[in-house]
Amino acid sequence: MDATSRLAAWLNDHPQQMSNVVDYNATTDSLFHFDLTKNNAELSPALVNDTPKFSHWVNKKLADNHCRYGIGGYMELRTIYDSREQFDAIDEPRRLHLGVDIWSDAGTTVYTPLHGKIHSLKDNANFGDYGPTIIIGHDLDGLMLYSLYGHLSRESLTGLSVGMPVKSGQQIATFGSAEVNGNWPPHLHFQLMLDMEGRAGDYFGACKLSEKERYLQNIPDPGLLLNFACAINA
Ligand SMILES: [Zn+2]
Repeated sequence: MDATSRLAAWLNDHPQQMSNVVDYNATTDSLFHFDLTKNNAELSPALVNDTPKFSHWVNKKLADNHCRYGIGGYMELRTIYDSREQFDAIDEPRRLHLGVDIWSDAGTTVYTPLHGKIHSLKDNANFGDYGPTIIIGHDLDGLMLYSLYGHLSRESLTGLSVGMPVKSGQQIATFGSAEVNGNWPPHLHFQLMLDMEGRAGDYFGACKLSEKERYLQNIPDPGLLLNFACAINA
């Protein structure tokens, strides 16, 4: 059974323990699906390498389409990373995106979707990296799940410590601005893992396409916890 099926089985039995990761009302809020693959001809290197321009492009898509959030990215092959050396590897680049990205304004509130404990915290401050990052461990009746929140504000790390318990629905963080979040348009990288593989404060947000099958065994679909309706253009 892959990671998504294992988590889905537990969630199916415990729907009352889940909370939204961001404020979202399925009846009033629309979602815009961002396609960050090579199929999107608008994504020129000149756009994605210029963070203010890239941020303007994101904001205009949301505004023009009357969408509160942009979403997308789970197991998406991203040519957008071609120009971000953080993801380069000597033999094969890591371009398969493992989490989901939720695009909205800096300062947007992030909530814990399930009860748990702070696993680790780190400011991954390299260009193109996660910036301030929180990882929470969730013990789901013996099934261990870890949730990662990347591209946060610096203040998000204040007042938290490893081992601190957190409740489902508790405000845990806010989206960071480009100045602190690894130089990206403001968004949350939300990713789930069954095994942290010894890591702390960080876990790959993208892998090599050739490793997809291995990562599908460890990375459940974050959509299971988001309760998002289908995006308008998905
Ligand atoms: Zn991401």
